[in-house]
Amino acid sequence: AGPEAEAAGGATALLQHLCRKLRASGPVTVAEYMREALTNPAQGYYTRRGGIGDSGDFITSPEISQVFGELIGIWYISEWMAMGKPNTFQLVELGPGRGTLTEDILRVFKQLASVLSKCDVSVHLVEVSPKLSEIQAQLLTGGKVQPNPEDESAYMKGISKTGIPIFWYRDIQDVPPGYSFYLAHEFFDALPIHKFQRTEKGWREVLVDIDPEVPDQLRFVLSPSSTPATENFIQPEETRDHVEVCPEAGVIVQRLACRIEKDGGAALVADYGHDGTKTDTFRGFRNHKLHDVLSAPGTADLTADVDFSYLRKMTQERTTTLGPIKQREFLKNMGIDLRLQVLLQNSGDKATREQLLHSYDMLMNPEKMGDCFNFFALLPHHRLVHANKKDKPESKSPLAPVAGFNELLMK
Ligand code: SAH
Repeated sequence: AGPEAEAAGGATALLQHLCRKLRASGPVTVAEYMREALTNPAQGYYTRRGGIGDSGDFITSPEISQVFGELIGIWYISEWMAMGKPNTFQLVELGPGRGTLTEDILRVFKQLASVLSKCDVSVHLVEVSPKLSEIQAQLLTGGKVQPNPEDESAYMKGISKTGIPIFWYRDIQDVPPGYSFYLAHEFFDALPIHKFQRTEKGWREVLVDIDPEVPDQLRFVLSPSSTPATENFIQPEETRDHVEVCPEAGVIVQRLACRIEKDGGAALVADYGHDGTKTDTFRGFRNHKLHDVLSAPGTADLTADVDFSYLRKMTQERTTTLGPIKQREFLKNMGIDLRLQVLLQNSGDKATREQLLHSYDMLMNPEKMGDCFNFFALLPHHRLVHANKKDKPESKSPLAPVAGFNELLMK
């Protein structure tokens, strides 16, 4: 059987599993449905396929152009310098996909080896999908990895082609503490959301149930009464009629904020999303086309826009936040135009130049990825405001502006 038949068979298995569960114990939350569809250990979409790239189901910025990852690599170096060049840091990526972004960042670290020469760098990847972790290992280490014994927090380790140690974990909590730069690109949008609908009787949670009319078909229903989630997640001042909340994203951002507050570093989050204004954004993608979220679970990527206002709230002011700002503004501030000019000058053939211009347009055009993707950062408070302002503020040198959110100034 080809991949399509295999995918269909897998889908049937997951659908049957869900139908049995729904028949036995009633409707489930959208979050539970999404978790099963994406990361069920046997049949989940990411567990089995994780179709990122041209031949997959969706394409992401790092897969479009190497420039994207290079500019992010420069962002980390610029923050590392602004924070006084600590002698060690961990680069921690959540949901690294095919590993392309990390590879582009590590190439920049290698090119700037003279700048980083006295710094001890290690890479820590948080990935639940065995399939994708294999692809990452192949790309980043050329297959030079070894599984870790069960009692260690990392499930796999290896050495990058550029000589940097890499570790794999299933959960951010397993990553050792320490000064860290975190990265989450198109990660939060893959985490399970709860959905709520305003009704005449008050807020009700949207649930997934079996359609009684059609065998093996799922449908949305409203919970008959309010659920604990409705009480906990809807703000009294909410004005929208339909709200999506991703508590798992909240928990992870809280952890990042605690870690940055305690051990230092920064987090860069890039995703499509909004600042607490959008309503129904739950979508499925398969073969680069929109796909009904309830049909053939496990064969399509399911995603929801990231609510940056919620992420900001969940930092509980342990860190400063910057953004969200549009991808095209962030990349422009990071010097994408100059980088494009250099690459165009260095490329001899017409096809390469056209490819460069095409990928620039994909990333920057407001109608393509330029406007709907956003950058958002967590930084220690002292990165933007001097600690103890009271004692002799005039003796302190001005703090460097944060690149990306301001124009990049590198000496
Ligand atoms: N950052 C990559 C991939 C985005 S796809 C890119 O931009 O190309 C989402 C990634 O998150 C995949 O690697 C997926 O396997 C991973 N993922 C999804 N849910 C996860 C979870 N709960 N914990 C860790 N990784 C997860």
